Amino acid sequence: MAKIIFEKEKCIGCGTCSVLCPKFWEMPGDGKSHLKDSIINPKTKNEELEIKRIECNQDAADGCPVQIIHITK
Ligand code: SF4
Repeated sequence: MAKIIFEKEKCIGCGTCSVLCPKFWEMPGDGKSHLKDSIINPKTKNEELEIKRIECNQDAADGCPVQIIHITK
């Protein structure tokens, strides 16, 4: 299992993650990206998602210009 942690409040809304990894990322129109099916950590306000396979999320993490997509293994 792996976990994606997305520091949503720091997102600048560039859209790169949703282009590189549309299966997991979308731009709902509020100026920030959304990690699909994620839950919001009430303490940190980060979006978090447990996944079996990282798939294109590594591309999203590598492509994010502000480096706010983190993958823990
Ligand atoms: S690539 Fe990073 S800054 Fe750009 S929309 Fe995605 S999470 Fe936000």
